[in-house]
Amino acid sequence: MTKIQFSIIRGQVSSQNAILIKKEATLLIVKHRSFPYKLLGMEASLRRLPQDHPQIDYFQQSINSIKAGIGGEKSLDQYFEQDAFHENHFVFQDIGLNSSGVFQIDYLYINTYFAVIFEVKNISGDIFISNDNPRLKRVRKNGKIDYFRNPLRQVSETTDLFNDFLIMNGFDLPVYKAVAFKQYNYALEFEKTTIPVLSIQDIPGFIRRLPRPQKILTPWRLIELMELILNKHKNYIPFPITNYFEITPEEFQKVVHCENCNTFGMRKLPRTWLCPKCGLESNTAHIQAIHDYCMLINPQISNEECRKFLNLKDSNTSSRLLRSMDLLKKGSSQKRFYYLDYQKL
Ligand SMILES: [Zn+2]
Repeated sequence: MTKIQFSIIRGQVSSQNAILIKKEATLLIVKHRSFPYKLLGMEASLRRLPQDHPQIDYFQQSINSIKAGIGGEKSLDQYFEQDAFHENHFVFQDIGLNSSGVFQIDYLYINTYFAVIFEVKNISGDIFISNDNPRLKRVRKNGKIDYFRNPLRQVSETTDLFNDFLIMNGFDLPVYKAVAFKQYNYALEFEKTTIPVLSIQDIPGFIRRLPRPQKILTPWRLIELMELILNKHKNYIPFPITNYFEITPEEFQKVVHCENCNTFGMRKLPRTWLCPKCGLESNTAHIQAIHDYCMLINPQISNEECRKFLNLKDSNTSSRLLRSMDLLKKGSSQKRFYYLDYQKL
């Protein structure tokens, strides 16, 4: 049995690839997870918040958790790549779609019988979930309690929106849903829910046991659905990150960061940036600062905002630096903004 695996980050399957797929009896396509925008934004926050900021611990933990989550999803990839499914199917990671609202799916499995949505969580500790509580409670080993958004509600909302997406695009397919936790090492208690809660290791078995009374889609129609999902997919961009946390732009440290000694305040000399503390010289130190501004404060930046953020004396220098970067422009020359097309990262 031949297996084809495509790595498609965004955009369309070329018609040549589509033909290749159609010739195969067993199909596997993976839309890989998107660029980790949230992680970049959280790292920028950690870089620019003062050491004694009350949310520093939270950001550090969240970064660890996102990194571990990426690790968790990679281990899930192995289950799919081992090809446990002897049927026409496609697997998508981290799909962003829009129907009656914008939504994001961690893992989506589609075949000619049904679709399954998995909300994948990487939260270690003792977990308590109830369908009628909007929050998930986690008790850590040291007894500390944290609360997260309830993944049962999350996956239900996502499923409703995906159902709308199918209907709006002329597809009629049963949609199953489940929440999957990466770890085994927790007490997992949930009540008042009919939504399956699994370990990621259980996912292949869960998919295999779902009922397949009759084919709903022809293989060709399944390919049309796959192409539709890929074509409609848009990365979810969580910038500016201040929209999601109770942090005001003023709380972030401005000016240019020295990556060598991890301090702020590199000075602009005619041809270079100089760190007064460690003596590092860099021609490109402003790039990180401008990206940080866009991720943290506003995805578009004017020349004046750039001048202030980098602590430059004259606007000709900031204008030159902005123009030297691979940024898009909008507005007239009087009111010009620069921005990065994050969809294309
Ligand atoms: Zn330095």
